Amino acid sequence: MQAAGAVPDKSVPAAPLEFDVLVVGGGPAGSATATLLARQGRRVLLAEKSRHPRFHIGESLLPMSMPLFESLGVRQAVERIGVLKRGADFPAATPGGYTIFDFRRTLHPTCAYAVQVPRADLDELLFRNARAAGAVTVEDTEIEHVRIDDAGVEARGRGAGGAPIAIRARYLVDASGRDTLLGRQLGLKRRHRRHQSAALFAHFTGVRRRDGEHEGNISIYRVEDGWVWVIPLPGGIMSIGLVCGPRTLRQRSGEREAFLLQLLATIPGLAERLDAPRIVGHLQATGNYSYRCTRVAGPRWLMVGDSAAFVDPIFSAGVHVALHSAFDAARLVGAVLDEPGLERRLQRRYRREQRAGLARVSWFIERFNAPVMKHLFAHPRNDWRIEEAIVSMLAGDLYRRDGITWRLELFKLIYLAHCVADLRGAFAGVRQRLRRMREVFVPDPLSPGAP
Ligand SMILES: Cc1cc2nc3c(=O)[nH]c(=O)nc-3n(C[C@H](O)[C@H](O)[C@H](O)COP(=O)(O)OP(=O)(O)OC[C@H]3O[C@@H](n4cnc5c(N)ncnc54)[C@H](O)[C@@H]3O)c2cc1C
Repeated sequence: MQAAGAVPDKSVPAAPLEFDVLVVGGGPAGSATATLLARQGRRVLLAEKSRHPRFHIGESLLPMSMPLFESLGVRQAVERIGVLKRGADFPAATPGGYTIFDFRRTLHPTCAYAVQVPRADLDELLFRNARAAGAVTVEDTEIEHVRIDDAGVEARGRGAGGAPIAIRARYLVDASGRDTLLGRQLGLKRRHRRHQSAALFAHFTGVRRRDGEHEGNISIYRVEDGWVWVIPLPGGIMSIGLVCGPRTLRQRSGEREAFLLQLLATIPGLAERLDAPRIVGHLQATGNYSYRCTRVAGPRWLMVGDSAAFVDPIFSAGVHVALHSAFDAARLVGAVLDEPGLERRLQRRYRREQRAGLARVSWFIERFNAPVMKHLFAHPRNDWRIEEAIVSMLAGDLYRRDGITWRLELFKLIYLAHCVADLRGAFAGVRQRLRRMREVFVPDPLSPGAP
């Protein structure tokens, strides 16, 4: 175990370390929570099982995260490591064409851009920021088991070299991401059948950006049972990933690299941007196998970020949801440490807030490939400022209700009206979703030992 602050570098303490809060996982959710709690003057231990900088997927950020970076004191540093992202583009009606959803056109004024970042750099920056704020940060330290009772939290794990460690804390924040430490231990994790998919992704050279001020856009393309992201990163690198269901993966023959390159070359609009594309480093694969935990908080514990739920990443909301939950969590934990009687009420509010954010994007994710949704995204209209509400959602405005909620509900009615007018398209969309729900990945990605 390597530590900063109060814990000396090499020693494995015989007696348990004592903290106000143990934060498990040093990704964006954990590092932000630890920073904010340390600033309140709490004694915080942030434990990360790997060592920064380490690779992570999830490179496209959202404008609504920029004020959160500002509050964490890292906004300028984040802007320095990334490429400015002024919008997201989706396929237009004309083959190969695209429609830009420009972040200057949100319903409420917000930051007009976000950043596309190498996650290794972003996550290291946020982790070091937690240390600078006063949290004790340890790397190469995996928390393996936690016990929570009236006396508090007792965690056991392994530090560097496999040395056993024990930690006691008054509160536990699970920020272990898709490892879902508590979700697994308490049996709370449920697969989201409507979103299940897997991803193949890599960094490329030889892929052209958009022109002019939109050169930093994320581009999204549809494929038969999924979609493809194209994210410009610094140094002429393009991150490209395919998210799809078992059906597409089953059709694959030969090496994954060749399969992905061949598939990209068949996508109208993307094929023209390929200019002798080459993979830099390794192609990676992951099951993003969406899930949610049936509880996200309980006595003396709560989950932040991906440890609570994960949905298909098409709208690049993961890091924003992680940061937003971290801010809520830090407020909640701080208040409860001072006044334990508040816990149930504050946790109820926390649960509602986290669910509402994900619910806002989930409806769109499930229908993204349906013919009617393709049509509406290819022909955006701003009647009643609905398009601006959609841009707001794409910018990460997931929690505010004023003006956005009813416009998105109206969009759903318009969607339904189009379904009635285009019954064939509507049935095709429903069939697609039902087929996807019936399909299963083999091996089961939630089984022990699965990737
Ligand atoms: C294919 C794909 C594409 C994506 N694209 C985007 C995107 O473009 N934009 C976006 O915003 N999001 C994207 N995401 C989602 C994004 O990656 C996550 O939502 C985000 O990283 C969540 O942050 P987190 O801090 O909750 O979890 P993580 O970033 O996963 O951090 C969790 C940390 O906990 C550590 N850990 C786990 N278990 C333990 C343990 N027992 N003890 C100690 N440490 C532990 C891990 O090593 C890790 O560092 C994508 C996800 C996938 C799968």
